[in-house]
Amino acid sequence: MPRHRTALPTFAILGMALGLAPAGAQERPAPPKAAARDILLRPARVFDGVADRPHDGWVVLVRDGAISAFGPEGEVKAPEGSRTIDLPGTTLLPGLIDAHSHLLLHDYREAPWEDQVLKEAVALRICRATNHLKLDLLAGFTTLRDLGTEGAGYADVGLKQAVEEGIVPGPRLLVATRAIVATRTYAPGGYAPEVDVPQGAEEADGEALRRVVRDQIGRGADVIKVYADNARGATFSEEELRKIVETAGSAGRPVSAHATTAEGMRRAASAGVSTIEHGEGGDAEVFRLMASRGVAFCPTLTVFEASAKAKGYRPGVDPEPARLAKARTAFGHARASGVTIINGSDVGAFAHGEGGRELELMVDFGLTPAQSLRAATSTAARVLGLDDRIGRVVPGLRADLIAVDGDPTREIAAIRRVKLVMKDGVIYREP
Ligand SMILES: [Zn+2]
Repeated sequence: MPRHRTALPTFAILGMALGLAPAGAQERPAPPKAAARDILLRPARVFDGVADRPHDGWVVLVRDGAISAFGPEGEVKAPEGSRTIDLPGTTLLPGLIDAHSHLLLHDYREAPWEDQVLKEAVALRICRATNHLKLDLLAGFTTLRDLGTEGAGYADVGLKQAVEEGIVPGPRLLVATRAIVATRTYAPGGYAPEVDVPQGAEEADGEALRRVVRDQIGRGADVIKVYADNARGATFSEEELRKIVETAGSAGRPVSAHATTAEGMRRAASAGVSTIEHGEGGDAEVFRLMASRGVAFCPTLTVFEASAKAKGYRPGVDPEPARLAKARTAFGHARASGVTIINGSDVGAFAHGEGGRELELMVDFGLTPAQSLRAATSTAARVLGLDDRIGRVVPGLRADLIAVDGDPTREIAAIRRVKLVMKDGVIYREP
């Protein structure tokens, strides 16, 4: 939960966005009293996170970090002394949610995953992560579900606290801490059997999974991330996955499963995980199982494209690489099954701040722009259990709002032209 915010004057917030510490941030003085004022946002239209078509000429009033009114201009009365922000030509919409990020990773083209995990000091990785927080926020992502620190321990718990305390600007975070893998099924691999190379996630099997799930939750995990398979096939048994889901569930935590094979997905869905990540090997049957079990699909198309691009693939010029083509087929099965699709990109494996690409790819793969936008707003909020606070433009919800140039319900690429970013009523970017 946010502790104190909306208290900093706009110039300080913009300073934070630019990387400058607000004066007195270190001492954390009592919040000034005068800051709680109303802000009237006047875009050309509002996408409310649900309806297919935006509301032309509607405005949004923000007070004390929350949406206080939403309606046609003229019907929404801004109190005396309100600040009005004109956003001509823009569409206002709920802040975007990326349900699959890695703040503690940076673009694999800069350093391969294995080098990041084995050669980069945790302090170095955390310093980078503070930049990543800022980049993702300014790109319109006001919420991230960060699915594993990949060898950086519990650093995500501290990052989350730093954002909540206003020490660094960033999206609101759900964090997973170390993530769980079956013994010697993850990476780095390929070393002599005598060498103990640390894995990029926490190893556990059998009954010990219960202790590890409790341990991660006790250290701050909001969600448990498990690797249900790897390139060689399924790793955990369905029974083991069930232990994870049951133990996490009794502490009120959902489980996210990495699964790229149909069998890994089947076991994870049968065990009752909340979301399945990647899923490019999914067939029609397993997506139907997911739909019937209420398991959401987080496709991470951007990471497939990014890894192909790193090998020279030029989208729109070259034939589609095998893994992307596979993901496109799986996405078709997913759409046909009616499974819930949420936006998640695996940002971190590619450059932070570029997460908007996922919405474009989901449209390229067959969603309408409005479906893609819902996957990144109201639908993601519901699946992540945050829909009582974010994901729609409705009075009473937190004022996590962005404005983009153009109309993303017609042209999804508009989502990358971010003009305004507000989180909890605090402005981090404005025209
Ligand atoms: Zn990932």
